[in-house]
Amino acid sequence: MENKTIWEKKKSSDHFCRSFKSLHTDILIIGGGITGLSTAYYLKDSGKRITLIDKGSVFSGVTSKTTAKVTYLQGIIYQTLEKKFNLNVAKKYFDSQKEAISSICKIIKECHISCDLCEVPSVIFSLEDNGIVKIENEKELLKRWGVLVEDVSDQRIKAGIKVQDTYTFHPLKYLEGVLSSIGKKIDIYEDTMAYHISSCGHQHVVETSKGKITASQVIIACHYPFFLYPSLIPLKTYIKREYVNASQIQDSQNYMAINIDSNLHSIRYYQDYLIYGSNMQRLTSKIDYQKSYQKSRSDFKRLFGVEAEYTWMNQDIMSNDFLPFIGEVRDGLYIATAFNAWGMTNATISGKVIASLILSGKSSYQSLFNPKRMNLFLLFDSVLGSFHYLKVYAQSLWKKNNPSYVKIEGILYGVYIDREGKRHIVKLLCPHMKCNLVFNREEKTWDCPCHGSRFDLDGNVIEGPATSTITKK
Ligand SMILES: Cc1cc2nc3c(=O)[nH]c(=O)nc-3n(C[C@H](O)[C@H](O)[C@H](O)COP(=O)(O)OP(=O)(O)OC[C@H]3O[C@@H](n4cnc5c(N)ncnc54)[C@H](O)[C@@H]3O)c2cc1C
Repeated sequence: MENKTIWEKKKSSDHFCRSFKSLHTDILIIGGGITGLSTAYYLKDSGKRITLIDKGSVFSGVTSKTTAKVTYLQGIIYQTLEKKFNLNVAKKYFDSQKEAISSICKIIKECHISCDLCEVPSVIFSLEDNGIVKIENEKELLKRWGVLVEDVSDQRIKAGIKVQDTYTFHPLKYLEGVLSSIGKKIDIYEDTMAYHISSCGHQHVVETSKGKITASQVIIACHYPFFLYPSLIPLKTYIKREYVNASQIQDSQNYMAINIDSNLHSIRYYQDYLIYGSNMQRLTSKIDYQKSYQKSRSDFKRLFGVEAEYTWMNQDIMSNDFLPFIGEVRDGLYIATAFNAWGMTNATISGKVIASLILSGKSSYQSLFNPKRMNLFLLFDSVLGSFHYLKVYAQSLWKKNNPSYVKIEGILYGVYIDREGKRHIVKLLCPHMKCNLVFNREEKTWDCPCHGSRFDLDGNVIEGPATSTITKK
C-alpha cells in the first residue's frame, strides 16, 4: 500500500516558479506552511514589500500532513504549565489559544474560505487509573476560567471531559483560501531553499538556492530553524513522530478526542472518514520505521475494524518547557517554532505576534513565547537533551538496519540498490549537526535520528533543518 495523506493539494501557481539572482525586500518570510502564510496574512496590509520563499512548494511541509484539530483542549497542558511556571502562565497560554481559534474563524468568515470548517466538541480522556486525577485537575482549571466542561463517561475509558467552541477543518483548503486572500500583496518564490543568514548593517542577507535576498526583517517560518545561533533550538527542543491512518467508516461522529496517556490515541472525523493518530515516539536511532508503520495500520484495523485507506507519518517539534518559541531572536530576525503538535492555533498566534512586533514593536504574548528565554526547566532539559543526542548519536554509529554500509577513505556511506539494480550511494552524515543517518525502510529515505532531517535515496533534502544534500559518491 502506498503511503499518502488524506489532504489533497492543488497544484501551485506557475507564477511562483520564477527565478532571480538577487533581490531586496522589506520583509522576508522563509517557509510557506501555516506559520508563514498566517504571518503573511497579518502583514499583507502593512504597506511593506513582503516576499515569501519555500524550499519546495507552499504548504507541502508538516501542515500538509497534520490532523488539523483547532482546539484549546490540548491534553493536560494547563496543569503542566501551572506546575512548571505558575497559574498566570497557564492562563495566558489558554488566552492565546482561544484568541487563535477566534482569529481562524474570523479569517475564514471574512475571506469566505470554504475549508469544511466544523464546530465539534473536543474530548480528552484517559485509559489509565492514574489519569483520573489529571483529568479532574484540567477540568477544575478550565472551569475556573469560565469554560463549560462536561464529563464524558464510556465503559472503555477511566475518565474524560468535553468542551465546546473547538473546530476541525481541511488544512490545505484553509491555506489555499488564506493565500488567495493575500493575492498579489506578497511575492512568492517556490523551490527556493534558504541556507545561510548574515547581517550587514541593519540588513539581513539570506543566501538561497536561487540567489541572495536582502531584507530588514526576516521571519523563520520553516518549521525547524536551519541555524543554531542565535536561537539554540536543538538544545531546547526534541522531535516526535506520529503515524496517522484514515478510512471511510459507516458511523462518522461529531467530536474529536485525544488521550493523555503515554500511548497516544488521537481521533477526528472528516466527512465520512475517521482519522486516527497513534504510535507517537521521540526520535531515536532505534526506531524501526517499517515496524512502526505496520503497527499503526494493524492497531487501526484492530480498533476500528477497517483497513486503512490512507497512512502517513508526520513529525513536530516539542519544546522542553511546553511553550512554543515565537518572537525576535536578534534585531529584525524572528522565529516561530516548537508548537508541541498544536500548530493550527500556535502558528496563527505566531502570525499575529510577529506582525504586531514588526508593526508596533510589542505584543501581549511577547514574554510568554519569548524565544530567547532560558529557565531552569529548559536548562535542565537541555542538559538531559544533550545526553539524549549523544546517546542517539552513539547508537546511530552502530545501527545495522541500513541496507548496507561501505567505508571509503574512513568515511561511512550508505548503499541502496533499487529494484532496477541502480545503486544509490550517500554519505551517512547529516549536514545539520553531523549525526549519523539511519535508513527508513518503509519510505526509502535516510533520516536523522537527532533533529529529524530527512533525505531521499539520492541524498536530496526532503525535510530540514538540514539545507544541503548528502554527498553522493
Ligand atoms: C501527526 C501530527 C498531527 C498534528 N495534528 C495537529 C492538530 O490536529 N492540530 C494542531 O493544531 N496541530 C497539529 N499538528 C502540528 C501542526 O501540524 C504543525 O505544528 C504545523 O503544521 C507546523 O506548521 P509550520 O508552518 O510551522 O511548518 P510547515 O508546514 O512544515 O511549513 C514550513 C515550510 O518551510 C519550508 N522550508 C523548510 N526549510 C526551508 C528552508 N531552509 N528554506 C525555505 N523553505 C523551507 C518547508 O518546505 C515548508 O513548506 C500535528 C503534527 C503532527 C506531526
